Amino acid sequence: MPLEPLLPLFHRLDREHFEARLGALADPPLSLRWSDGRMTRTAGLYRRGPGLCEIVLSRPLLVPLPREALLSTLCHEMIHAWVDRVLRVRESHGPGFRACLERINAAQQGFCVSVRHRYPLPQRPAAWLARCPGCGTAVPCRRRRAGLACRACCERHNGGVWDARFTLRFEPSPEGTVG
Ligand SMILES: [Zn+2]
Ligand SMILES: [Zn+2]
Repeated sequence: MPLEPLLPLFHRLDREHFEARLGALADPPLSLRWSDGRMTRTAGLYRRGPGLCEIVLSRPLLVPLPREALLSTLCHEMIHAWVDRVLRVRESHGPGFRACLERINAAQQGFCVSVRHRYPLPQRPAAWLARCPGCGTAVPCRRRRAGLACRACCERHNGGVWDARFTLRFEPSPEGTVG
């Protein structure tokens, strides 16, 4: 999946909600990047150290989600930068952060910034569909297992006892092609 370039989004949010002051920061400037594939504990982070000030956005968590999640996470981290570098207040999600968050949420409808932003790691789509030859019901599953039969059909037609007529047949799931 292609990664959306972050800088145009950053500059737009900066103009609209931060008086374009985040893009103008120097010594060090605020930089912005996508994480590698391992950043899964948080959707985004802001950090500053000697000679470093950056926003990192989680590639594995955010890329599969709707764009609104990316905007909301980017904006969340930009508020941290605003509080730290413009207001020059030491806090994480304190009053300065919350005031800015509420101002931005009131000013637009495109996304909603929240104080917490943890997103679940995307589930790998099931590779197989297990289909009952009796009722036709198909259930997604990760791996094939021999001898499973459709419970509903066994109960309806065979007194709840396993019945070979309703042994599930596995077919590749259309969603299961993982690139
Ligand atoms: Zn935060
Ligand atoms: Zn069935």
